[in-house]
Amino acid sequence: MKEWTTTTPEETTQLAQDIATHLSPGTVLLLEGDLGAGKTTFTKGVAKALNIKRTVSSPTFTIIKEYKGTMPLYHMDVYRLGESEEDLGFEEYFYGEGVTLVEWAHLIQDQLPEQYGVLRIERIGDEVRKITYTPVGDKYEKLEKVLEESL
Ligand code: ADP
Ligand code: MG
Repeated sequence: MKEWTTTTPEETTQLAQDIATHLSPGTVLLLEGDLGAGKTTFTKGVAKALNIKRTVSSPTFTIIKEYKGTMPLYHMDVYRLGESEEDLGFEEYFYGEGVTLVEWAHLIQDQLPEQYGVLRIERIGDEVRKITYTPVGDKYEKLEKVLEESL
């Protein structure tokens, strides 16, 4: 498990940008954390790194938003689905050409791919956040090593 602390939203965006430089097509990252923790703020940083110009906002009412950049970004917020069995064809994104970021992923636990990275954002204070990365599967263990060496 790799851990970082950020003390401003800008730092979280910058950390996300740095992490994003190590991501490749088919990467799936789950963003866990309470409402207001910084999941969407983190996503904005990934978007910036992928040179996405459109404003990234929380996709609560659309479930999935796709952004075109140097690599596509698939931003999912499955909060509204609840504990749903509804198959929305997530595989197309998980195994697609882009990076997928999923907010509230535990709600679709049985539809997740076998491997993924988990980024948990915890609110420590007004602007202080603890961000931890936990890998699930060997591809994401490799990513952890890369992050340990570079960040
Ligand atoms: P979530 O998507 O997890 O509900 P958001 O990213 O939409 O959260 O909102 C996080 C809020 O917390 C924003 O208003 C942001 O400005 C604020 N914030 C304060 N400090 C931080 C920090 N260190 N990292 C991320 N967001 C922060
Ligand atoms: Mg959000």
